[in-house]
Amino acid sequence: MPGRPPSDAVVLFDGKDLSHWVSMSKKGETGEPKWKVENGYVEVVHGSGSLISKEKFGSAQVHVEWATPAEVRESDQRRGNSGVFLMRRWEIQILDSWENPTYPKGEAAAVYGVAQPLVNACRRPGQWQTYDIIFDAPVYEGDKLVTPPYVTVLHNGVLVQNHVALPCGGPKEAHLVEGPLMLQDHPGPVRFRNVWVRPLAPVSGR
Ligand code: MG
Repeated sequence: MPGRPPSDAVVLFDGKDLSHWVSMSKKGETGEPKWKVENGYVEVVHGSGSLISKEKFGSAQVHVEWATPAEVRESDQRRGNSGVFLMRRWEIQILDSWENPTYPKGEAAAVYGVAQPLVNACRRPGQWQTYDIIFDAPVYEGDKLVTPPYVTVLHNGVLVQNHVALPCGGPKEAHLVEGPLMLQDHPGPVRFRNVWVRPLAPVSGR
């Protein structure tokens, strides 16, 4: 059973409904989420769109519990792929990385395309797993990025990303200091439960 969220958490999914979320297609169209809620979890319905939180967050602790399908069918990036996107921009990869080789920056708990995890902490397919993500949002002074975003990730309680700087600062990203959490629509019906966020004060200069 999932643990209780802390008292200062914004609970985005408590196992009952998707009232904190909208669906977003690849083209950016929003609508009612079509993912399947049952038995205290929500399961990806591939092709129906990613889930985008209605609330926006900057610096935060993000807690997500997830499980890849117990029945293994595919391999590599097609096996239990989803992802937790911070500010809808940086992906903490979800993948069934149990005896499933893939490129290092695409493994479970990778910052996708940026940093491989320090160790493979993946549980067997079908088992519930946890991400605790500590995210420091970028800090701007005017248009100037003075502190990049950083992320620290614990996977099943194991430190796998330790204060990793995230790419930031392109022309489209100026003043991007908060954004929604996104759970990725991808083949391989991943399940989620117990999703909560604790907003944190911005951190500058470290
Ligand atoms: Mg993914």
